[in-house]
Amino acid sequence: MEPLLLIPGPTPLPQEVRDALARPMIGHRGEAFATLYRRVTARLKPLFGTGQEVLIFPGSGTGAMEAAVVNLFSPGDRVVALVAGDFGARFAAIADAFGLAVDRLEVPWGWVVSPEALRDRLRTYPPGEVRGVLITHNETSTGALSPVQELARVAHQEAGALVVVDAVSGLGGAPLALDGWGIDLLLTASQKCLMTPPGLALLALSPTAWEAAERARLPRSYWDVREARRFGARGETPYTPAVSLWFALDRALDLIEREGLDAVFERHRRMGAMVRAGARVLGLQVLAGEEHASPTVTCLLLPEGVEPAALRRSLRERGVEVAGGQGALKGSAIRIAHMGATRPQDLLVAVEALGEALREHGRDVSPQAAVEAARAQA
Ligand code: PLP
Repeated sequence: MEPLLLIPGPTPLPQEVRDALARPMIGHRGEAFATLYRRVTARLKPLFGTGQEVLIFPGSGTGAMEAAVVNLFSPGDRVVALVAGDFGARFAAIADAFGLAVDRLEVPWGWVVSPEALRDRLRTYPPGEVRGVLITHNETSTGALSPVQELARVAHQEAGALVVVDAVSGLGGAPLALDGWGIDLLLTASQKCLMTPPGLALLALSPTAWEAAERARLPRSYWDVREARRFGARGETPYTPAVSLWFALDRALDLIEREGLDAVFERHRRMGAMVRAGARVLGLQVLAGEEHASPTVTCLLLPEGVEPAALRRSLRERGVEVAGGQGALKGSAIRIAHMGATRPQDLLVAVEALGEALREHGRDVSPQAAVEAARAQA
């Protein structure tokens, strides 16, 4: 039997999506692809919360982060990067690599940068100096969800800065609104909540960001959003798209539409609550505080003496695959994803397996009590 894959990407593929991957190839300069292009990009708009076009590049989420940097900024531009974990640090490092002046606003792992902290930091600069604020919507390394809407408001009010949001592990699992929340560039990837294999980098820009993209002076070619938009107007991409992944995403969007976006978000919220409730009964600490706990991934701190690699092995023997801790948490935490095609009943299986694995590692816990606590949130 296939393991229950509960890592924060790539996530399990529904059967319909797998079937779509096997479809015969089509030419990417013909009417069939143009129709697919229009259908997929139109149906992504509600997930991005925008009336702007959504662009799709062949690439990973990190590529989309690089695309954001090279399309919006010029050498030496000042940006404030919110760093609450590994992916915030990655965004800052990419901006560094392209010669931006990066100010890291860091908080301990498990926390999120508050709007007040961002306001205080922005006020240390002369008006107009900070050109961009880089935000991780859902920090996959810690399982903490940032208050993006409030942060965007502060970034605009205090600095008139472009608000750039990495929603790789959040888009499709939690509400986001490029238009309504004052986000200027929103990016994601195919392999998390979108139930599609890895390989598509997706992004959308606000009208202000499109203006910035015209003025930006960093070198860009592959990731040039202006070219992507120009080709997109006739249902094409500047170079060969990952056609099979477009087929898969098209099918995944059918599933999201069938369930309804609000129901999808509610399912993710409940799944997060289930994992946290079950884990607490098992004596595990949830890294992120309840007020900003992620609906798509949970990071659990293990008790002294329980080694993450060994615990994961025990879980694997029970058919459940979870991720290890990231960075500094590698030796002390595990992460359980609850995103995309994962269902509440999968988390009951996972919580029970976690309880049994902890027992195997000498903890006196009750898997059944944990399952009941999780079920109460389902
Ligand atoms: N940003 C976040 C929040 C992520 O979770 C990930 C991947 O896990 C990335 C960026 C990088 O995406 P990729 O691995 O597709 O390059």
